Amino acid sequence: MGPHHLEELFSPDSIAVFGASEKEGGVGTRVFHNLIQAKYRGDLYPVNPNYEEIKGHRCYSNLTEVDAPVDLAIIATPAATVLDIVRSCGEHGVAAAIVLSAGFREVGEKGKWLEQSLVNTARHYGIHLLGPNCLGLMRPGIGLDATFLDSFAPDGRLALVSQSGALCTAILDWSRPNQLGFSTVVSLGNAADVDFGDVLDYLAVDQKTDAILLYVEGVHDARAFMSGLRSAARVKPVIVLKVGRHETGSRAASTHTGAMIGSDDVFDAALERAGVVRAMTFGQLFAAASILSTGKRVRGNRLAIVTNGGGPGVLATDRAEDLGVEIAALDAGTLEVLDQTLPPHWSHNNPVDILGDSSPEKYGDAVEACLKDANVDGVLALLTPQAMSRPQEAAQAVVDAARRYAGKLVVTCWMGESSVREAREVFSRNNIPGFLTPERAIEAFAYLCRYQRNQKLLLQTPGPLTDSRQPDVEGARMIIEAALAERRGMLSDTESKAILNAFNIPCTPTLEARTSTEALVHAESLGFPVVMKVSSPQISHKSDVGGVKVNILNAPDLRSTFKSLTEEARRVKPEAKIRGVTVEPMAASADARELMVGVKRDPVFGPVIAFGAGGTMAEILRDSAVAIPPLNRVLVQRLIDRTRVTNLLGPFRKMEAVDKTAVENVLLRVSEMVCELPHIQELDINPLFADKDGVVVVDARIRVKRPSTSPVPYSHMAIHPYPSHLVRQTYLSDGTPMVVRPIRPEDADIEQEFVRNLSAEARYFRFMRVIDELTPEMLVSFTQLDYSHEMAIIAVIREQGRQKQIGVARYVVNPDGKSCEFALTVSDEHRGQGIGSQLMDAMMEAARGHSVQVVEGEVLANNRRMLSLMQELGFSITTSSEDPSIRRVERWL
Ligand code: ADP
Ligand code: MG
Repeated sequence: MGPHHLEELFSPDSIAVFGASEKEGGVGTRVFHNLIQAKYRGDLYPVNPNYEEIKGHRCYSNLTEVDAPVDLAIIATPAATVLDIVRSCGEHGVAAAIVLSAGFREVGEKGKWLEQSLVNTARHYGIHLLGPNCLGLMRPGIGLDATFLDSFAPDGRLALVSQSGALCTAILDWSRPNQLGFSTVVSLGNAADVDFGDVLDYLAVDQKTDAILLYVEGVHDARAFMSGLRSAARVKPVIVLKVGRHETGSRAASTHTGAMIGSDDVFDAALERAGVVRAMTFGQLFAAASILSTGKRVRGNRLAIVTNGGGPGVLATDRAEDLGVEIAALDAGTLEVLDQTLPPHWSHNNPVDILGDSSPEKYGDAVEACLKDANVDGVLALLTPQAMSRPQEAAQAVVDAARRYAGKLVVTCWMGESSVREAREVFSRNNIPGFLTPERAIEAFAYLCRYQRNQKLLLQTPGPLTDSRQPDVEGARMIIEAALAERRGMLSDTESKAILNAFNIPCTPTLEARTSTEALVHAESLGFPVVMKVSSPQISHKSDVGGVKVNILNAPDLRSTFKSLTEEARRVKPEAKIRGVTVEPMAASADARELMVGVKRDPVFGPVIAFGAGGTMAEILRDSAVAIPPLNRVLVQRLIDRTRVTNLLGPFRKMEAVDKTAVENVLLRVSEMVCELPHIQELDINPLFADKDGVVVVDARIRVKRPSTSPVPYSHMAIHPYPSHLVRQTYLSDGTPMVVRPIRPEDADIEQEFVRNLSAEARYFRFMRVIDELTPEMLVSFTQLDYSHEMAIIAVIREQGRQKQIGVARYVVNPDGKSCEFALTVSDEHRGQGIGSQLMDAMMEAARGHSVQVVEGEVLANNRRMLSLMQELGFSITTSSEDPSIRRVERWL
């Protein structure tokens, strides 16, 4: 595995600085000064034809004069000169460039064109380009300050990636007094080439980085962003601050869902999907950063508050309530202890108000009693300087108590200025997080709780799929194509339901009638009672024009309703073309809950799926949540649980609980539908009736558009869905049917069983160390794949009606994007049946599909069987230079 493709950008051995100068106030002057000031240890080559020497370094008039390799070019010359410079860098073999110069996309059309040529040239030479129009990059650990800022970041283990230069400056100003240090600070500028995705990918594996802060204004490439975010958030905490919270939902949407889901909700859903917690304000970002940098973690969200004054306690409690932090119910034993220790008028409750004149000892005792309580996960210690408080000694008492309960989190807030400064230092010396206000302290605690919860959720594996009925994708596609051929984007009710049916989503049948006689024929064949709805391509909210009549009991009723429905619609909406009515059976259950399931296209993240309370009042109730497909059962359950209507799904008043699995199945199938049908722009199922016996769709609307053609599979989605095109039905050499297919999260059980049943030798060959089974973390990372980066192909047979995994071949694409590292394992009892070569073939085909050029791997030298298979498959075999017991195998695709 080679180094990461951004290695030379973040850890260059040599740097050329274009536009370095000695002119007062110039960007080139500043950046060259900073490089020297920060004590960069590699080779520095200032390039500027106007100087012989700058600050003791020989100055070059161009790059050809530099007779040595250069890793990184820093460019601070006028925009018009940058293109030629990048070309000269390409000719010299420079791997990365930082363009500080402004005057590109941000100045209009001409700049945009210039920026595009810059990117084309950089890509032509394989140069990774940061910027243009950026502040640059800092790596305090190696003394690299490639910015033109006034101050250098203190060394530490946080990484900051920002789209805004001004924000970098603000954070750096703030970090010093708050004792935060950075491994990396990157300003992306226009992000013409290197973007969030690449940088996250690098920081995820960067040994110097423990946590990542992102400041986001907008996302350009959702696929790369999600991919980078997911892989980074799996290994280290990522905090995102994004502006633009209160934007209203998009205006011109033609469905309920479209009107209800704003792009900010979608962004939240994307973050949640990646296991990332969002900060809403600057303050929260800082709070989260400071608590993360202490390395502290928390088990649950039950907080005890100890305070020497009522006011701060109330502030803290209010904020806790907003953020879903639970104010712990203290155990009776704890209350007793506190009764004995504290003055008689203490609050007798959480917040524990120990009163203003309590001594430091009492303060410490109260904190200790709370930490000891099994109902408490963390303590917030608040202190306002009062006559008797002796802040420093109280701080020491808290430190001592905290030390005895290291498994629980203590956060502190000593309010005030000069009188508490030394006390705060006591905390900081003892690595106890301290905050200036109670609200900030609560935000930090809440952040840690949510972070921990997200991580736990990531580890949950979905159960096996219960329903394997295949959807009729082809049929659905043909219905859509036919509508598009007639230049219609909005499908009729009947067509929409037909598509849902093709994906096994149950719907009431809808029959079109142009006359009341036709309507009567339909009603008689369906059986009364029926529902009649006005049918018009221009009317998508039928009730709004009085166009729905339920519970029509007989023929006379039907005839008069036909007349009144169509007339009313004509009166309210004269411009609409009324085709007639639709007739459908009455979905009769009195217990039915009305739900809503929708799909909307986000301009950045592609299709999103919404779920919530349905019916004609859906827009008023505004109770919905969104998720980014593809979904699995665990994600679907989370989506449902985020709404209020989830409380209506259980037993309610006299109604029995809803068949929740049926509701989940609808969401799973909608997810499948948007993966397979890139045509779908909007989908609105409202209402979906749900009761104890199941679900049925009574109203559906789908809007479609011809998708843009792209060679990248599933390019319309932010997350690569299950690659079903790689599923193969084949046979073992003895004729047993076998399925060779990519692994799914639902395969966690069969994968674990497979590993458990391997012989000790086979396990050793695979993992090159002794293990019995996979840890929960391994199991997640082996089954929940980011298919755009990695793949596992498994061989599955049926044994006693159950699926059984008998082999697996997997690869992970290396950071260079061109090669991948693979591993192959076949179960001991199925050796010699041709499984290995089938798996390898399927795996290599998958790799080719993602433009991988080389497959590489390591095989233990005594694994003869594997080595001979590799030889058969055309791999070259060499002895590892580091370890003679290992063979390197490699094949070009
Ligand atoms: P629209 O959303 O265009 O106004 P719907 O078809 O959703 O029209 O009908 C409006 C309401 O009528 C639904 O929310 C539901 O309460 C009721 N309704 C519609 N179809 C049926 C049906 N087949 N059975 C029972 N109730 C229905
Ligand atoms: Mg409706």
